[in-house]
Amino acid sequence: MTEKIICPYCEKALTEKYYCISCQKDFGVAARHSEEGTLPDYQIAQQDYIDNACFHFLKEFVPISHWDIAQISIIRDALISVLIKFHNKKEYDLYPWLLEPEDIVST
Ligand SMILES: [Zn+2]
Repeated sequence: MTEKIICPYCEKALTEKYYCISCQKDFGVAARHSEEGTLPDYQIAQQDYIDNACFHFLKEFVPISHWDIAQISIIRDALISVLIKFHNKKEYDLYPWLLEPEDIVST
């Protein structure tokens, strides 16, 4: 068993330099931020973009509604599901998460 970070797109283990060979993508910036427990600014901005879009959508129907993450997260989950299922988007691009090492069985 070794601890490795998994590619957020294809779920294969990244190299020591946080590179996914299958996707040919470098996750170095995100992985190093994850070690500090934070996302890079551009990923925080992406999360804010989605949450704000959900809040504006809610306000279309309830103009007096206030920012409530419980309500926003329900809309967000539905929106993300639609974007993935019907529009071929990647969850990690829409709403990125921390890349934390996981125990994987080495082969
Ligand atoms: Zn990958």
